[in-house]
Amino acid sequence: VGDRERGALIGVDIGGTKVASGIVDEGGSILAQSRVAMVADRDANAGFAAVCSAIDAMLARAGELKLGIDGIGICSPGPLNPDTGVVINPPNLPCWRNFPLASKVSERYVLPVKVGNDANAAALAETIWGAGTGYRHVFYTCIGTGIGTGIIFDNEIYYGHTGAAGEGGHVSIDYRGPRCNCGKPGCIEVLASGTAIANRARARLEEQPGQSAILLQLVKGIPANLTCNMVAEALAAGDALAREITAETVQFLSLWLGNIVDLLDPDVVIIGGGVANMLRPWFGDLKNGLVVSSINSRANEIPIVPSRYGDEAGIAGGAALLAGRGANRRQELHV
Ligand SMILES: [Zn+2]
Repeated sequence: VGDRERGALIGVDIGGTKVASGIVDEGGSILAQSRVAMVADRDANAGFAAVCSAIDAMLARAGELKLGIDGIGICSPGPLNPDTGVVINPPNLPCWRNFPLASKVSERYVLPVKVGNDANAAALAETIWGAGTGYRHVFYTCIGTGIGTGIIFDNEIYYGHTGAAGEGGHVSIDYRGPRCNCGKPGCIEVLASGTAIANRARARLEEQPGQSAILLQLVKGIPANLTCNMVAEALAAGDALAREITAETVQFLSLWLGNIVDLLDPDVVIIGGGVANMLRPWFGDLKNGLVVSSINSRANEIPIVPSRYGDEAGIAGGAALLAGRGANRRQELHV
């Protein structure tokens, strides 16, 4: 590595079905990336081998690009221990139970390794390189299949006492609301995630198929086929049902963000995830609703902005775990 031109990090994003990996430079740009299938339903080693093949692909690419790799940062589904890098028992990764992911990866590659929860890591990436640059206290939410959140205080992930802080998707706005997968009623995730949007639209379409010709056509006459992407498509085409569903979603999110602002008073709110694009024209309504739902008379000063990273949030997030100011402090580097 003596004559290398510059250093970079490898970011790895582990999901239930795929492992994405990428090379991330000092400015947070993703120079290369790859995807392999995750093997989540066999033994621990099969899952680990999938992760290694994703890392190997990026190490080979780094060699071609004449980049030195300074560390490997990994986003994994939780629960996990951010101090030790042990993955505890994620429902979508049955292969791993108390699996020491950070130490396994650092043993194999002899590099610093950190492991973190995906939304926390994405929040840090946005703060260092993305939409949160220049802000100290950041609230990040990723609205997709579920709703993840991350809290950054003073440019560092806020972990809380047990490492489990930042589960804002399971903050309830309705104690009589529908039950979330986590067991609680009325979590914002069960009301405003992409899954929730699709479920509500599907129920309305089943009730009254005539009220949206566009959606009925998109689902080919079978409401069970309805997805959140179809609601987004219908919304873009001016469909009234899609508008109604989106307006409700924005109302739920406003109330929730009002709670968040009253609790944290962040410098900025960043919205990412697959549903963020669909909601982007509604950020003004979201802001107005938030102001009404917060007791903070200056809530209107808090910007609501779209994230820099889309599908690459996990790759950038993994790398951010090693690039952050507090990277050496929270988790010992396993060299
Ligand atoms: Zn929940």
